[in-house]
Amino acid sequence: MKCSICKKDYDGWGNNAEPVNSGRCCDGCNWTQVIPARLMNFAKPKVKVGDRIEFQIGEEIYTDRITYVMGHIIEGEKFCLTYTNFKIANS
Ligand SMILES: [Zn+2]
Repeated sequence: MKCSICKKDYDGWGNNAEPVNSGRCCDGCNWTQVIPARLMNFAKPKVKVGDRIEFQIGEEIYTDRITYVMGHIIEGEKFCLTYTNFKIANS
């Protein structure tokens, strides 16, 4: 199979290349391009600077106010998060 991103041949099933393109890709491109693109798509529209968010680590519930958003890195006043399940708790 030929990777739809780097155009090199790879063995096996490959990976779904969405959202980079609609084809399939090699493991290398999956880790370096497809997964980061998915994380960015997840994080970007969900939070903006100034939002209050609520998230859980273990049993504890934390709240924080977003001060910086860069790709899938979300920085708050107290925490720096990457891909994490949280909800916006603006009030
Ligand atoms: Zn590739």
